[in-house]
Amino acid sequence: MIPFNEPYITGKEVHYIYSAVATGKISGNGKYTKLCQQYFEERWGFRKTLLTTSCTDALEMCALLLDIQSGDEVIMPSFTFVSTALAFVRQGAKIVFVDSRTDHPGIDESQIEPLITDKTKAIVVVHYAGISCDMDTVMEIATRHDLFVVEDAAQAIDSYYQPKNSEPRALGSIGHLGCFSFHETKNIQSGEGGLLAINDERFLKRAEIIWEKGTNRAEFFRGEVNKYNWVDTGSSFLPSEITAAFLWAQLEELDKIQQRRKEIWNLYFNDLQQFADKTSILLPSIPDYATNNGHAFYLVCQSLDARATLIKHLKSNEIASVFHYLSLHKSPYYELKHDGRELPLSDNYADCLLRLPLFNNLKNETIHLICRLISNKLLL
Ligand SMILES: *Cc1c(COP(=O)(O)O)cnc(C)c1O
Repeated sequence: MIPFNEPYITGKEVHYIYSAVATGKISGNGKYTKLCQQYFEERWGFRKTLLTTSCTDALEMCALLLDIQSGDEVIMPSFTFVSTALAFVRQGAKIVFVDSRTDHPGIDESQIEPLITDKTKAIVVVHYAGISCDMDTVMEIATRHDLFVVEDAAQAIDSYYQPKNSEPRALGSIGHLGCFSFHETKNIQSGEGGLLAINDERFLKRAEIIWEKGTNRAEFFRGEVNKYNWVDTGSSFLPSEITAAFLWAQLEELDKIQQRRKEIWNLYFNDLQQFADKTSILLPSIPDYATNNGHAFYLVCQSLDARATLIKHLKSNEIASVFHYLSLHKSPYYELKHDGRELPLSDNYADCLLRLPLFNNLKNETIHLICRLISNKLLL
């Protein structure tokens, strides 16, 4: 069976973990944590970054930093992973879900503004499949209404927002805060892992405190205060050096990993494009202001049944393919809290979007085979 995902291992992970163990420093915020954070800051221009144990944790830190209180409203897409909403719901937020775009599963930016009320505190955008939302539009709305913007860039490492005639800006560096995931299904991974990017000066000091269980330990270690104490809310959001050492090995091969993922994406696209217009499937469309980081390759089928048929056909040929997400506004946990607005495009992606295997060691011949299997089925 060809799996949907297979984590890529560079081979150096164990070496760096061994080295962390040998130095006797395996709790958080040591050498490898600093190496990783410095890499992120230098390469993508984040003002400051903090490794976290997951993207979910990074999002929870955002909810704490934005001081989300019971009754505050947070605007976000319904077509996303649970954590995008969960992190804010835990602080008492009411989630105001927005539909997806017709050409892309990301948030429909044009539907945001009418949903803003005097209780709205933040807009959370999700760069689905690593493809940028229209950030100038989102930031302009947020500025006008004095709202914070959080980028759920879980899937968007090394991807950019690049409107015509302007400099490319790394996703996760544009909103006030950005969150990344290093879960084993993401481009760069450490099993479980994440990153908070702090782009707004106002959050710098408090982010470090929340990260370290509500203490000013980071300042203490830098010699800026002579004892450390409990000074704020927080949790243990930092990963151990074992996780950071693993991640460092991945970062060293980032360019190679990215190149291969984009190559795979293009192979799928070119093969499928040759017959897609004779069928009812839609291929991904990338807005001209967005780059592609090869995170995910997906098709949009015509119906739930058509998708089920295709999954079954691929499975009978030993190919795993998966779907996600289910609309959050219809989830058992949130359905009754949702204000009842229909979000038909989100529901359509939930029913019809199909993801194909995409991982570094996937062979070109397997990609061609998958595309042939799909064309055989659809051109029947
Ligand atoms: C993977 C993912 C998350 C969660 O990341 P974890 O590191 O597993 O917590 C959140 N949001 C999106 C959009 C994701 O794809």
